Amino acid sequence: MDEIKKCDFCGEDQSDDNPVLAGDDAMICKNCIVSAYTLFFADNVPQDESVEADESNKEFSVKIFTPKELKAILDDYVIGQNRAKKIFSVAVYNHYKRLFKQDFLDIDNDTEISKSNLIFIGPTGSGKTLMAQTLAKHLDVPIAITDATSLTEAGYVGEDVENVLTKLLNSADGDVKKAEQGIVFIDEIDKISRLGENRSITRDVSGEGVQQALLKLIEGSVVNISQKGGRKHPNQEFIQIDTTNILFICAGAFDGIDDIIQKRKGGNTLGFTHQKHSQEEIDLILSELETEDLIKYGLIPELVGRLHILATLDAISVEDMVVIMDEPKNSLIKQYKKLFKIDNVDLEFDKEALKEIAELAIERKTGARGLRAIFEEIMVDIMYELPDMAGDKVSITKDAVLKKSKPLVTKNDNILKKSA
Ligand code: ADP
Repeated sequence: MDEIKKCDFCGEDQSDDNPVLAGDDAMICKNCIVSAYTLFFADNVPQDESVEADESNKEFSVKIFTPKELKAILDDYVIGQNRAKKIFSVAVYNHYKRLFKQDFLDIDNDTEISKSNLIFIGPTGSGKTLMAQTLAKHLDVPIAITDATSLTEAGYVGEDVENVLTKLLNSADGDVKKAEQGIVFIDEIDKISRLGENRSITRDVSGEGVQQALLKLIEGSVVNISQKGGRKHPNQEFIQIDTTNILFICAGAFDGIDDIIQKRKGGNTLGFTHQKHSQEEIDLILSELETEDLIKYGLIPELVGRLHILATLDAISVEDMVVIMDEPKNSLIKQYKKLFKIDNVDLEFDKEALKEIAELAIERKTGARGLRAIFEEIMVDIMYELPDMAGDKVSITKDAVLKKSKPLVTKNDNILKKSA
């Protein structure tokens, strides 16, 4: 029978994870070899095998989740938007598969899979940024989020387009390789359309200049960036970032694009009568969006040509808004309950109260983004009293949301009365 080998240095028995190497007079386990190596060659420690298999990307590798796994992660955080979540999951899967797996194929090595970037179209607060943030976090890839309206061509007053790469590098803790495989999210891309007519920010020519500058990044180029961001100075040290493998996601609300789509489709249409579409109508029309509509809207064709994957998000309904408040991991209700629980106070919300909050958010046209501000308005007075309320129970009623009354407080001794 084989004797179990034991490390003479640490005394551990051998195991699958920690094999033991036997010499003539002594044995040593893998952990001790690594420790010794670290001690003598501190700067050159071998990677653990948990680093994924790709030899050419030893420094940094992303665990490849399947589209179904990615969608399941998104489902935990992003309510509704099923079609967009599916499209995004497939895109992210293909992106990282392309990066880390294509060299392994021994078939058809002449075909190189090209990168696909995305464009998300949907109203404010419908989950566009949230989708990107959620997957970046779970894949552990760096993400830089920027607003297209703050960007300018190099040399103009404002933020250079390239600064987004500085942000990405910061998000990657300065690891260039990691940054080069990260995600750049550019919001409000619709606001730099060159037509600019009736849009909230009229940028005319400079909007097109920013689009051209973005195009350069998205197409893939090696860019010199200064580590600290801001303007480049002649004597500053530069870091080179290759954008070839960065996943770019552009996003925008594209207000009024429904009319462009309808016109293309030659519909009789509300558009001709200049009547505004209802939100449901807009959602329906948007599902027919094509790239040419984006060009008509004022994005330059070359940029649209690089944003191959189009996902539209719906405006959030009252029902979904209520679910958003309650169900996702980290939902607002869960957060407030926890805040209250720390002071030993139970918190509950009436169904009608939640509906009312949802309607307020929709009225304000802020999507789910506006929910937190509404909650804060409702909760601030009661939270002021919280440290003195240990053992009590607080109910947020519809009237409390409408500011017709204060939240209901059930005192410790079961006497029902209004909060102070
Ligand atoms: P935008 O579409 O403008 O990028 P965000 O993704 O930034 O909107 O949404 C703002 C906030 O609103 C999110 O951080 C999240 O709390 C909430 N939210 C928006 N849409 C959703 C959604 N579909 N599911 C869950 N939460 C959402």
